[in-house]
Amino acid sequence: MNDTVEIKVPDIGDFKDIDVIEVLVKPGDAVEKETSLITVESDKATMEIPSPAAGVVKELKLKIGDKVSEGSLIMLLDAGAGAPAPEAAAIPSDPPLSKDAAAAAGMAPTPVAAAAGADLHAEVVVLGAGPGGYTAAFRAADLGKKIVLIERYATLGGVCLNAGCIPSKALLHAAKVVTEAEEMSRSGIEFGKPKIDVDKLRSWKDALVGRLTKGLAALAKQRKVTVLQGVGKFESPKQIAVDTPAGVKRVSFDVCIIAVGACVARIPGFPYEDARLMDSTAALALADIPRRLLVIGGGIIGLEMACVYDALGAKVTVVEMADGLIPGADRDLIRPLAKRIEKRYEAIYLNAKVAKLEPKPEGLLATFEGEVKPQQQMFNRVLMAVGRRPNGAELGAERAGVAVDARGFIAVDKQQRTNVPNIFAIGDVCGEPMLAHKATHEAKVAAETIAGHKAAFDALTIPSVAYTDPEVAWMGLTETEAKQQGIDYDKASFPWAASGRALSIGREEGLTKLLYDKASKRILGAGIVGVNAGELIAELVLALELGADMEDIGLSIHPHPTLSETPFFAAEMALGSITDLYLPKKP
Ligand SMILES: Cc1cc2nc3c(=O)[nH]c(=O)nc-3n(C[C@H](O)[C@H](O)[C@H](O)COP(=O)(O)OP(=O)(O)OC[C@H]3O[C@@H](n4cnc5c(N)ncnc54)[C@H](O)[C@@H]3O)c2cc1C
Repeated sequence: MNDTVEIKVPDIGDFKDIDVIEVLVKPGDAVEKETSLITVESDKATMEIPSPAAGVVKELKLKIGDKVSEGSLIMLLDAGAGAPAPEAAAIPSDPPLSKDAAAAAGMAPTPVAAAAGADLHAEVVVLGAGPGGYTAAFRAADLGKKIVLIERYATLGGVCLNAGCIPSKALLHAAKVVTEAEEMSRSGIEFGKPKIDVDKLRSWKDALVGRLTKGLAALAKQRKVTVLQGVGKFESPKQIAVDTPAGVKRVSFDVCIIAVGACVARIPGFPYEDARLMDSTAALALADIPRRLLVIGGGIIGLEMACVYDALGAKVTVVEMADGLIPGADRDLIRPLAKRIEKRYEAIYLNAKVAKLEPKPEGLLATFEGEVKPQQQMFNRVLMAVGRRPNGAELGAERAGVAVDARGFIAVDKQQRTNVPNIFAIGDVCGEPMLAHKATHEAKVAAETIAGHKAAFDALTIPSVAYTDPEVAWMGLTETEAKQQGIDYDKASFPWAASGRALSIGREEGLTKLLYDKASKRILGAGIVGVNAGELIAELVLALELGADMEDIGLSIHPHPTLSETPFFAAEMALGSITDLYLPKKP
């Protein structure tokens, strides 16, 4: 049999008139079903177009540089020599998912054949759809892999979009507007006390989260990523059982990426059945604005939520076991934040902890240990923000042979591979720092490695940001680490009181600090406290990655008047060329 069929570009989502950047076959080549024929590239994605059938390439109908859309003719294929002709040449024909699995997936089935005993098969299965998981799934799909993305919740986006980065930043924006309006009275502009409609504020925040998660669902659909809703657990190094709303579905896979994230850590013995004891998810749900709020934990998440509730009118108390707030950051960066919130909050207790929390009709009665007076206090709500625990222990990982440590972390190599060669892990579940930008970076490394690219996690730093007011951001080496490691560093700290822009926005408490190698003056680390520190730190991350020295920063013209001048001024301090400050000459 020798049937000539036209092979056309299948449905590639919204992409139209995109460039052909590679033609991977030539006339006379024998191709299997799923052999990649061409690579196309848009400004958003690169993808390979597979053959919907086996056969021999008869004639190519396009070349590198041509523009294609759905339906463009790629080639004529002799679908013979025992290879059945495709039913519909334009779109790859696939064994359909079982009806239930397709319903659970909520979208069109992808072209994969299930292994024996499995309901569907994935070249790459991604377990968990947070920033790590969806990024890995999308990148691997763009690199031509057939993906099944398993997520226990109905929406994609994980903690970051649904109960972390995004909703917290939305509420922090609301908080900033309230406090800035309040503080304008010093400059002669008085606003009335804000009327806060909690229901409306919550709906606004929920709507923007919804917009982002719907956007992710659309991006998954465009890439033909099969999304399966349910809790996944390993059955073997090649199969996961997923408990979906339509029953258990088995997914066999060639490669798996574990991206199950982390959950809230808890202090045992507290009354978690009482809704007035909140975790960060409940705090972001914004049930009401308590009169008195106790925040247990003076780390980033606790202090961000404290900032929100303080601006909305709650009297906030923070209790922290360590001797300072945000223990990972240098103390000089924390001082301006501590000074500001000490004035605004009811109390900040350091070297102290909550020993007991008792539900009473009028609130939660906290008994403190440490230098806290009075030792028993009543709060309307309590936020538990004592850290996050990786979800590695709940996956049946032992059935796949994947090693999980006592805390629930899964160790990986530079390619994000676990101890099992076809299983990768990314994001919060594979180690600190538990941050979304670490998860997405690791996701790309894993996806690219799986697709045969040369990739490794070799970033020099993962920046940290507390989006408090003021913000605190740091990257590279901290001064504490430099001292501990005996590194021969020097530093330049530029006080924002000498920045025209900081003064003009009424926020002169900031500080920008650069740490650099004494001999070469190359940047080693940086820390910023002040408004927008989280945005400003990005320049210094790039500087570190490029191996920049103080001249690179101090001789690059920065726009005036901006807060972005503060790293530039600090570099000028390091070079001794600063004129916006007077530095006495070193003897
Ligand atoms: C309040 C708060 C604020 C934060 N703010 C920031 C910030 O500003 N910047 C920042 O970088 N980071 C922030 N983070 C941290 C950030 O949210 C996480 O680092 C990030 O979400 C980790 O991504 P991930 O993909 O590893 O895991 P996650 O986002 O946790 O996603 C894991 C997904 O896997 C799913 N899952 C787990 N187990 C299974 C299973 N067995 N089967 C199916 N699905 C499963 C979960 O439902 C979840 O959707 C914040 C966190 C919190 C709590």
